[in-house]
This record gives sequence, C-alpha cells and structure tokens, in this order.
Amino acid sequence: MRQANLTEISPGAAFFDAHCHLQEPEITDSLDDIMERWQGIGGGTIVCCGTREPDWRRVLEIADIYKNVLPCLGLHPWFIPDIGHGTSGAQDLDNTGYASPMALKMSGGGASMTPKMPGSGASGAAEFGNSFDCLDKLEAMLERLEAILDANPSIAGIGETGLDLLVKDIDPVLQERVFMAHMTMARERNLPVSIHVRKGWDRLMVILKKTGALPRGGLIHSYSGSADMVPMLERYGLYISFSGSVTKQGNKKVKKALASVSPDRLLIETDSPAILPESPCRLTGERTSPDWNMPDEVSRTSCRLTGERTSPLYLQGWNEPANITMIAASAANILGVPLSRLMEMTWQNGIRLFSLG
Ligand SMILES: [Zn+2]
Repeated sequence: MRQANLTEISPGAAFFDAHCHLQEPEITDSLDDIMERWQGIGGGTIVCCGTREPDWRRVLEIADIYKNVLPCLGLHPWFIPDIGHGTSGAQDLDNTGYASPMALKMSGGGASMTPKMPGSGASGAAEFGNSFDCLDKLEAMLERLEAILDANPSIAGIGETGLDLLVKDIDPVLQERVFMAHMTMARERNLPVSIHVRKGWDRLMVILKKTGALPRGGLIHSYSGSADMVPMLERYGLYISFSGSVTKQGNKKVKKALASVSPDRLLIETDSPAILPESPCRLTGERTSPDWNMPDEVSRTSCRLTGERTSPLYLQGWNEPANITMIAASAANILGVPLSRLMEMTWQNGIRLFSLG
C-alpha cells in the first residue's frame, strides 16, 4: 500500500476537524499556539463540542475568539451522574449571555424531558432516581440548554451526546432519555448532532428506526462500530467520523469500517485532547506515541525531524487539532488515495454537514 506523504497537502486546501474539545483544561490555555499550528498544517474549520454544562460557556467564548471554530453544546453520557451530585455549574451562567434558569422559567421555554422520552418508562428512571435524585435537575439542565440555543443562533450543532454502554455505572435508561432529548432538540432546531456511541449500537439502531432520519443529519464520532452497520447509519443521514484510533497498529475493525464509508459521508476528527494518534516516523519507521515506551531520545529526535509531531503537547500526551495530519495520512493509506484527496473529501463533507457552503 502506498504511503501518504504530508508534502502532498496543497496550499489552498484545508483540513476539517469534525469533533474536538478545545475547552478542556489540558489544552485550553494553549489555544493561541494550537491555532497557529493548526494554520501551519492548512487547517480550516474545527468543530468544538461541549460535554457538560460547566464547559458550555468556554466553548462559546472560544468560538467567539476564533472564527474558524464551530460550537456545539450537549451533555456527554459520562457526565450525567454529575447532575445528581450538584456539579452542573448552573450557578455560573447568569452573567454570560445565557438565559438564567429564572429567565427560562419566566419565558416558559424548553422541552419537557419526561414526556418526550422513550425507554423503559418511569420505573427504570425511578430506580436510578433512588440512588440520587437527578431527574428534576437533568430536566432543568436540558431546559437551560434550550434557552442557550435560543440565545445563541451561531451554535452549529447539538452534542456531544450519545450512548456509552461500556461504562457500567451510568444508567442506560437515563442515557437514552438524555440522548433522545438531544435528538429532539436537533430535529426541532434543524441542527446536526455529534454522537458518541460505545457498545450501544443495537439501541442506537432501535432509536433511529423509531425517530427516522435526522433532517440535518449528524456524525458518529470516533466510529468504533462494524463495517456492516455503516450503510444503515448513512441511510439515517449520518456521517461517519474517524479519530486517532485509525492510526493504531492492528486496529483492523476500524480500518475495515473506514474503507466501507461512502466518499460523501466520511469525516475525520482529533477528539482533542483525547485519542492521541500514533505517528509512524518516516525516518525510522517506528510508531511513536507518548503511550508507548519510546526506547531512547534518538527516536524522539528523529521523529521530530519529520515534523509529524506538531506539538509540545504531544509529548505530554495531549492531542490537538494539528495532529489531524496523522489521522488523515492513515485514512488516505487505508483508502489508497492521495492525502490531498482525503483532505478535500473530508473538507467538503464537513462543510456540507454544517451548512457552511
Ligand atoms: Zn468527544
């Protein structure tokens, strides 16, 4: 198989990072440098997803400062339990241009969560509610999300949301309720959705069958499902987005899945600061990652010479959008296309999904 070459990047083309989290504390203080490196590799648009109420404000601030950043807001399934433990951060929101909970109450706005949700009904939620009373708080938080969407028409999408059945201690019924609320918001507001799914594929298909295709579509981020499922997901208006997991040696399932995606449905993303890609060093052929025990300083120096490690953050183990070159190179290799073609394809798809054309 031919090797993609970073020098194939044409000066006029741009990368599209379809999903990341620039608001995360590990990288958010380095954003000027991160954006400089992003421009240095021919970076275009970055989609930045909020994952929990305390980070929504920062996501909107970042999108205000850097005009090539598209903000999306949502509640990631991992953070659902925080709602019940009083860490929603709602108290911080009043002076930021967001509608306060009080303003929301006065406007009477917001979707009511309970009546719109499918799932196992009140019993499952009630069981969960016995461990900590979070349903009211969750509903109030979703109402505040609706109010923020109302007040900020520049918000480009809903998410990160989804189903994570790999994490055992987060109630799947509650996850499904929250996910459905996000899907309803996306449908009502004609926005795309950024979806996280691990081990929840069967449930996702049941939900999609029930709801039908999303009017504005969405993306499955860091796709880890099978190749067989790709055509079905595409039929429901979804794009399939691949992260640094495609750079990992031996990850045959994800490579097979990537090869099965229609050219007009493929996206790439960094999921920064998570999922640091492994970079094949062009001088030594060695695959390097801070997760690996690098044998000596020589290999680090060699790889730095290739320019493939684009960031000092890399050696600290944090990912950033400029590392999309490694993901794009791996994806181009898997498809057997030039890097410039992969870049152009994913750029066009990103522009279409987020209606930037
Ligand atoms: Zn993410």
